[in-house]
Amino acid sequence: MKRILITGALGQIGSELTLKLREIYGADNVIATDIKKNTSETAQSGPFELLDVTDLDKMMETAKKYKIDTVMHLAALLSATAETKPVFAWNLNMGGLMNALETAREMNAQFFTPSSIGAFGPSTPKHHTPQDTIMRPTTMYGVNKVAGELLADYYYHKFGLDTRGLRFPGLISHVALPGGGTTDYAVEIYYEAVKTGKYTSYINIGTYMDMMYMPDALNAIIDLMEADPSKLKHRNSFNITAMSVAPEDIAASISKYIPGFEIAYTVDPARQSIADSWPNSIDASAAKEEWNFKFQYDLDRMTQDMIEKLREKL
Ligand code: NAD
Repeated sequence: MKRILITGALGQIGSELTLKLREIYGADNVIATDIKKNTSETAQSGPFELLDVTDLDKMMETAKKYKIDTVMHLAALLSATAETKPVFAWNLNMGGLMNALETAREMNAQFFTPSSIGAFGPSTPKHHTPQDTIMRPTTMYGVNKVAGELLADYYYHKFGLDTRGLRFPGLISHVALPGGGTTDYAVEIYYEAVKTGKYTSYINIGTYMDMMYMPDALNAIIDLMEADPSKLKHRNSFNITAMSVAPEDIAASISKYIPGFEIAYTVDPARQSIADSWPNSIDASAAKEEWNFKFQYDLDRMTQDMIEKLREKL
């Protein structure tokens, strides 16, 4: 990775990934793109281009202009929003991915795009969900993610493109707000804890989902992209996770640092039904075996850091 094009760079992951890659590979070698621009450090600390991922010509032109050798495709509509606009989600998630793969093929570039625990469905084993298992998601987002994994595998087998990907769990971070996923509650709870000392969760008590703190997610992307290709058997779909938690677990962890923190529940049926269709905990052993996946933040360590960072920010 030397000249990296990032799509959707101003989102929850891209805002931090862009900065981290600029630190490692040099600011001028990381080209941030998004459909909109803002005044964040991400948009201003190196090259930035407006790019709608459904516009193949503009994507090719941008890739050639900067002579890129890596594509990191992040632009997508996330799970909860995709359920409200399924046709739009299909066109953006699949059309954008196809354009990003074609751009990578034209440039013979290394390629990364995230999949998600949303690629699993109600018929998938719920506990310690294996790397290779039944994948029959019931959401548009999940359908897009399974198709995306297969499409990226196809580009590897058919064209020899160096495609790689991770099935991310819910990601928790304090820089950019999440963009309409089912696990967004696990970010909101920290903001509300610091601001008001209480939170009303739209996800019900007892609903377990996998989560990970953003610094671990960024390291996982970089470690996977730098990994020896001869060791990768599951190129585009590694299960990774740092914890399996329910809202009451996060609340209990917050209470250790903000005594008296209160949680209540007003369940949103739409997002609850998506959460109920996902695994409770996934098995990350293939990622550990094939490229030495590891994480540093467990729930309490993440909680402590989130609260510290949000106190400074808010
Ligand atoms: P996000 O919603 O925070 O950011 C997406 C970005 O894409 C936004 O900045 C948005 O402006 C941009 N965008 C939207 N439409 C676009 C278009 N047509 N052209 C160009 N840019 C456009 O998303 P995120 O959380 O950063 O997720 C990035 C990727 O990671 C997605 O593929 C998502 O499915 C995946 N993922 C995220 C999580 C998570 O918890 N954040 C978990 C699993 C997988």
